[in-house]
Amino acid sequence: MTFSQSVKNEILRSVRNAKKCCAASFLKAALKSVGSLTLGYGGYAFSVESDNAEFLALLSGVAETQLDVRTQIVPSNISAKGGEVYCCKFDASLGEKLGLVARDGDGALGFADARTLVPDQHCCRRAFMQGLFVSCGSVVIPQTEDVSDDDRAKYHLELRFTDAEFADAVSSAYAAAEFRRTPRKNHIVLYLKDSEKIADFLVYTDATNAKLELENIIVMRSVRNGINRQNNCEVANIEKTVAAAARQLGAIAALRDKGLFDSLPDSLKEIALLREEEPEATLEEIANRLHISKSGANHRFAKLTELADK
Ligand SMILES: [Zn+2]
Repeated sequence: MTFSQSVKNEILRSVRNAKKCCAASFLKAALKSVGSLTLGYGGYAFSVESDNAEFLALLSGVAETQLDVRTQIVPSNISAKGGEVYCCKFDASLGEKLGLVARDGDGALGFADARTLVPDQHCCRRAFMQGLFVSCGSVVIPQTEDVSDDDRAKYHLELRFTDAEFADAVSSAYAAAEFRRTPRKNHIVLYLKDSEKIADFLVYTDATNAKLELENIIVMRSVRNGINRQNNCEVANIEKTVAAAARQLGAIAALRDKGLFDSLPDSLKEIALLREEEPEATLEEIANRLHISKSGANHRFAKLTELADK
């Protein structure tokens, strides 16, 4: 099961015990984001298609028991992945009961103004967001065995909307979540990239097991990245030593070529001979061998380079 699916299952379990007001808000979010409003001979009707039978059963149960609306679930399609897709049809009266539909000046029926749909009450706002995530959301986090360093690419939570006005209404109603917004094909996507913000979202939507799983990943990755940084640092130091030694050997060779080597002061000749003998030694090792300080050794190498450059 993907992380996204386990978050959705957790949310569905939480909504199953929700209060009536919240269950209705969950249903409203689902119908607005993935529902279709269709007109037929018997007036209009709502329907929601999904390959998640548990989700549809919950929507149908809420509509029937809390709102006294008749529903019907029928097989409707086969998904791209070859799974069964079901359609839940809702009686026409549901739209008015949820405040989802409104008539325009000409009496034509349509979805109500997107800005009126997000509920005000704290409990219902949470349920509404749960409905959005289960309907049009997804989330990915890095796997424990994933060794890539690019965390930004790894943590991603999004909600996809076909209705741009609704996307903007959600974004401003939940400003604290700090969603970012981007168009994608025919959709507007609200998304989070920051692992802490995703963790907050999971807590808010009552997916607490998923939040624990995410926190484990964050900790494991930060430990491993710490070890990687330390290794990178050691590699950088070795590279620095090698580069410095190469420069020093170059200077010494130049002095020999110019016939200046034999006339060098003893202190410089001594360190030059040792460097030629020990091309891989660090500055500290050289200094120790000569019983001088590191800065003393550094000074002598600087003098050699200076003479060679003349
Ligand atoms: Zn409520």
